[in-house]
Amino acid sequence: MTIEISKLSESLEVITEEMFSLIQELFPICRSITGNGVRESLERIKENIPITKHEIPTGTKVFDWIIPKEWNIKDAYVTDLNGKKIIDFQKSNLHIVSYSTPIKKQISLDELKKHIFSIPEKPDYIPYATSYYNETWGFCLEHNKLIEMNDEKYNISIESKLEDGFLTYGEFLIEGESKDEILISSYICHPSMCNDNLSGVVVATALAKYLKNFKLKYSIRFLFIPETIGAISWLYLNKNKTNNIKHGLILTCLGDSGHFIYKKSRRGDTEIDETVVKILNESKKKFEVVDFFPWGSDERQFCSPGFNLPVGSLMRSMYGKFPEYHTSADNLEFMNKNSLQESFEQYFLIISELEKNFTKAKIESKIMKEKVRLEHEDYFLSTNPNCEPQLGKYDLYEKFGGQYDKEKDDLKSAIFWILNFSDGSHSLKEIAARSNLDLEIIKKTALLLESKKLILRD
Ligand code: ZN
Repeated sequence: MTIEISKLSESLEVITEEMFSLIQELFPICRSITGNGVRESLERIKENIPITKHEIPTGTKVFDWIIPKEWNIKDAYVTDLNGKKIIDFQKSNLHIVSYSTPIKKQISLDELKKHIFSIPEKPDYIPYATSYYNETWGFCLEHNKLIEMNDEKYNISIESKLEDGFLTYGEFLIEGESKDEILISSYICHPSMCNDNLSGVVVATALAKYLKNFKLKYSIRFLFIPETIGAISWLYLNKNKTNNIKHGLILTCLGDSGHFIYKKSRRGDTEIDETVVKILNESKKKFEVVDFFPWGSDERQFCSPGFNLPVGSLMRSMYGKFPEYHTSADNLEFMNKNSLQESFEQYFLIISELEKNFTKAKIESKIMKEKVRLEHEDYFLSTNPNCEPQLGKYDLYEKFGGQYDKEKDDLKSAIFWILNFSDGSHSLKEIAARSNLDLEIIKKTALLLESKKLILRD
């Protein structure tokens, strides 16, 4: 049976209702990159599709990273001395910095404020904050509530556990006629937020649920992983399978009212890039296409130079660019069912187009051409070509002035650009042009990365 929307076993309206009710179910669960919130979320997904749950023990080395301790939390609050709850984890799990260590004590307001995050420009939103690789604790609060706190002392309590355990992820493979695969990846590490990224999770779940009824040429691999560390772990454990991945998409931010944005794969001219643009064109609706940049979601790992897989990301409003992003305003009310339905439809159409064009020959002709190197230019090789290095270990950010924000931002971008494109075929000059950063900044940052042995002159 060829895959066509008209042959779906349910109407798009029914599928949309299913996606939305799964978001509602998953929304209250406190997820992080590890822990019972991830397991519980995978269990709910498993009621829809037969995913396999994988557990990797704390301390396992995955490329340049180490699986962290597992984090679980029961409760957390701040009360005034009369016992009135000022901050309550039970009301929103965003109130706690993810990976907060346990603590129970009385504390001065001044001291407490050093551990509170708020957004003065968006005073009614609770921000989302994490501290995975730096053991500390913290609360997040609406700025309007923070400025009302004026007692001298408060009682704080965080009942959490940070101990050896596992990193958990889910995987489901629809076996097609061929071993050639389409990768559909979404992340399950964010607590109570909808667009980023329960929307991606439910679209992936619905695709898996309905595509498995068709006889497919491609195999389709679905990943439900914690962002970054999950992608790195999967790639580490499945290095030998990555050659089968012929096309891939990262699902993120698919439920808001914005138009579609397609972020191309690092190669930029692969079949998945052409196919997504074709399908978006045919939709006759407004959309944007942006070139690959080496930050964002898990395309960073799948498109790291050692893998350089044809993986793009089709989203609606881009992460970081909409006001509700990483706050309590990215909630159920922010979801638009029509958008969710269209997102499912576009992904379904992309996969059916890939199926229609399935031929070995076509795939083989897509192998990247060798690039010609230019004389008298500086070329480097990343010493961690497979996924990003864990930058926190290298003590990089203090090294570069940072008197004003732009300088720090430029340094961060330069680091990501140089690490991702130091593959021996992009010179520093080309990296500067592609990143839109000043060549002097690129050169200075390259020297810094060289001193940390993160890149070597080629
Ligand atoms: Zn996010």
